[in-house]
Amino acid sequence: MSENDLKVVEIPNPVTVRDLAERIEASPIDIIKQLMANGVMANINQLIDYDTAAIVMEELGFEARPLAAEEGEGAEGEKGEAPRWRRLLGDEPEEALVPRPPVVTILGHVDHGKTTLLDAIRQTDVAGGEAGGITQHIGAYQVRHNQRLITFLDTPGHAAFTAMRARGAQGADIAVLVVAADDGVMPQTREALAHARAAGVPVLVALTKVDRDNANPDRVKQQLADIGLVSDDWDGDTMVVPVSGKKKTGIEDLLEAILLVADSTKILANPEGATFGTVIEAEIDHSRGVVATLLVQNGNLHPGDVVLAGMAHGRIRAMFDFQGNAIEEAAPSTPVAVLGLDDVPNAGELFTVVESEREAKALVAEQESSAAEKAQARSRPGRSLEQIFESIQAGEVQELRLVIKADVQGSLEPVISSVEALEAGDAKVNVLHSGTGNISENDVMLATASDAVVIGFNVAADAAAQRAAEAEGVDIRLYDIIYRLTEDVEKALKGMLEPESKRVVLGRAQVRAVFRISKIGKIAGCRVTEGELRRNARIAVHRGKEIVFEGPIASLKHEKDDVKEVREGFECGVNLRGFSDFEEGDVLECFTEEKVPVA
Ligand code: GDP
Repeated sequence: MSENDLKVVEIPNPVTVRDLAERIEASPIDIIKQLMANGVMANINQLIDYDTAAIVMEELGFEARPLAAEEGEGAEGEKGEAPRWRRLLGDEPEEALVPRPPVVTILGHVDHGKTTLLDAIRQTDVAGGEAGGITQHIGAYQVRHNQRLITFLDTPGHAAFTAMRARGAQGADIAVLVVAADDGVMPQTREALAHARAAGVPVLVALTKVDRDNANPDRVKQQLADIGLVSDDWDGDTMVVPVSGKKKTGIEDLLEAILLVADSTKILANPEGATFGTVIEAEIDHSRGVVATLLVQNGNLHPGDVVLAGMAHGRIRAMFDFQGNAIEEAAPSTPVAVLGLDDVPNAGELFTVVESEREAKALVAEQESSAAEKAQARSRPGRSLEQIFESIQAGEVQELRLVIKADVQGSLEPVISSVEALEAGDAKVNVLHSGTGNISENDVMLATASDAVVIGFNVAADAAAQRAAEAEGVDIRLYDIIYRLTEDVEKALKGMLEPESKRVVLGRAQVRAVFRISKIGKIAGCRVTEGELRRNARIAVHRGKEIVFEGPIASLKHEKDDVKEVREGFECGVNLRGFSDFEEGDVLECFTEEKVPVA
């Protein structure tokens, strides 16, 4: 391709692999591949510098330009390639734009106090709600401070948070980076900051847990300065506000700081213009159908409007604010729950209001055909252990590439050294990446890019990893016995692999109480929260993010009776073979292993 053909795309510096992929509309896998070809091992959330990104882009037919709005924190916002709603806003006549309430997202490392802070803010002053008024959980809420509204995105749980993060704090105008004063800057703090920067969203810091004895604000401010967030009381331009979500102190200061940042950023909309915004979250409700929370970012939304969000569309049957009141109109920056869509749209998706259902259907059909084309153009790079063996046998590849995750360093090392010792003929094992902790989406992405298999020892694959593995066709294999692991790898090398067994989750139960019964040991008193527990199946005991035990059920009782199964909503007593250290709050996951024949 000659230089003249290169398409110019603006990118921030540094840029994450994911963001770069979105900007040039390529698959992150292709970018990771290019990086590997240039000797850089990167995962999807990794930051790469401008020069490296420029080289990769050139290989893919693009010319890099620094993002025009890069200079000067907080000044960006209306420029840049980032979210689509911002580009749509560019179509509105400038003189019609007026300020709207800022939309704030709270990001930061796990356990640094995001949820507690969001709760504290919500309780401080819920807009228009009398004390004790019931607020619905719709993924966003508004509070009033000094007569001005602020919208907070309150996406619960990890999944929604990841979705928002993945789309670069989509929809938000300001990011509050939560950093615990007793713990400081951690990996996810840096990652969150990278995403906020990639989205061109100004950042302020909430220094949480300042009430703790071991809080050390100065140390944290130093760490913040090291990542480019110099506190304003150190003559920098990042506001760092000490708060305690637990003691509810500093909340007013934080709201004040948010409004100050809002005032120095152009947060505008045309209330009379085209209506569009961002999907915050959506789910199917048994009685009401699809319930989607939409953040209006321009125009006004009304019941009866026809909404299109990705492939989902429909006429709004009813619309509610975050307090559950039916409302007739939603102005810019208002989050609303709407009923009437035919399908569940993705969080982070742009929604628009179109003329009619007919137009919505035509637009969906158009998108479907272009999506089909894209899918065809992109072959599925992921492969299973069996397929990789076939390639080894056919002489196409000489190595079996592995990504290995284990629970602790102490078990990771023996796993790696024992698989690296294996070889069969010319074929060898190559461990591309290894680490401790559960298998993540990044591990799967890396495996996809390099035709590797992901191996877990005493760990699980998180939900995002499972989804990615399914989508990309990557093989994830989980083991708890080291010789089974090495045996399988050896068989793969030699081509004698047994059919894979697949884990089928039957249900989950939560431990409510632990009883000691003489001679038997401890029994977990549980309630089945989904699916069922089956007497002849196996149980994985989850404690927080860890799996503390896996093994067969010794006895399953409902009231005093031995039973074969216990269904959702019922109580039961569980005794496991080889384990009795239950704790209240443990989650028992019941599963079976089913053999899947080799294709
Ligand atoms: P998240 O994972 O960031 O949402 O963190 P959480 O809000 O769930 O908080 C994690 C833990 O820190 C919980 O046990 C909270 O009670 C505690 N915590 C959160 N904020 C504060 C605070 O300001 N002070 C103190 N002492 N503890 C806090």
